Amino acid sequence: MSLKLKITAIKPYPVRVGIRNQFLLKIETDQGIFGWGESGLTGREKAVAGAIEHYREFLIGQDAMQIGRIWQEMYRSQYFEGGRVLQAAISAIDIALHDIKGKALGVPVYELLGGKQRNVVPAFASTGDSAGEDAVDRAHELREMGFDAIRFFPIGQDSRDIFEPRQSIAATARILNKARAELGSEVVLGIDYHHRLSVAEAASFCSKLDRGVLDFLEEPIRDETPEAYESLRTMTDIPFAIGEEFSSKWQFLPYIERGIHQFNRLDVCNVGGLTEAMKVAGWSEAHYVDLMPHNPLGPVCTAATVHFAAAVPNFAWLETRAPERALGFDNSDFFPVQPQLEGAAYPVSDTPGLGVEVNEALLAKHSFTFWEAPHLRRNDGSVTNW
Ligand SMILES: [Mg+2]
Repeated sequence: MSLKLKITAIKPYPVRVGIRNQFLLKIETDQGIFGWGESGLTGREKAVAGAIEHYREFLIGQDAMQIGRIWQEMYRSQYFEGGRVLQAAISAIDIALHDIKGKALGVPVYELLGGKQRNVVPAFASTGDSAGEDAVDRAHELREMGFDAIRFFPIGQDSRDIFEPRQSIAATARILNKARAELGSEVVLGIDYHHRLSVAEAASFCSKLDRGVLDFLEEPIRDETPEAYESLRTMTDIPFAIGEEFSSKWQFLPYIERGIHQFNRLDVCNVGGLTEAMKVAGWSEAHYVDLMPHNPLGPVCTAATVHFAAAVPNFAWLETRAPERALGFDNSDFFPVQPQLEGAAYPVSDTPGLGVEVNEALLAKHSFTFWEAPHLRRNDGSVTNW
């Protein structure tokens, strides 16, 4: 028996939820079954909406069950394939199609990905943007909440105007050395440098840390040049956690195959959806690279990532926010049913599809608000990375 659901509508909702916009996408079918997806290109949602408009032209009327074939058509049936905008659009569509297929078959999405391999999905939490002495106090609180993997941010992370790398690395290294001394050797500690350093600055930062202080260093430098990361790899033995901006398996290729990184920060809403995420997961498994997915968006992203995390063997932790750190992204008026953290882990939903409910009428009433990441400068006035 073959089940066909014809796509009848594709509706993007780039809408302000909490302190930023979320890019949500609804796909409807002629059987009345619909699915939700999310795209992760934060700050450039209008560009993704434009890409969705192009894809909608040939997706209306297609069979929503043909997810793998549709992915190939969206990627390959054009001359200028790939890139972060198009892949963010493909991601949202692919996730929504998984939601539809799960609902149509009466199974949770993890069943479409090979079945559940773990009962809960362990998560890591962050100490917050303020990275001074109080970050260590915050880490103690997270430990008490049950988190055994904790991520710090560098001094200067919360600045809206100036970021001076050399000032940040010295002060941040002092805080981290203190954190490890206080928290003991069992807890996993990492830091996200938000790709703000050069190779030399990152090497200096690592050299200022006591041995064993960090279990992972996230995005010390930008990722356009794998050879730069390879160079840094020779200067420190701290595992790297990178890949949250990568928009295809091909972008992961040099990093995985050359042994550059040890934790894979894949983002299902940017890499090309669950279809592409499963391929990167398999490739990572072959190289003993663990998955540590990026998850800073809304509940649709979290739900999709929980299903993905449940279905892969090589998994470390899923990014989450500590429950009381309210940025409004999980506003229950918009998302009446969504993944809920229990202690330091997410239960895996057995509801057919993603297991998320979205208040479409409320989304339709809210509008998009332009948002720019801080445009950071160094003390000399030059532009530096956010
Ligand atoms: Mg990051």
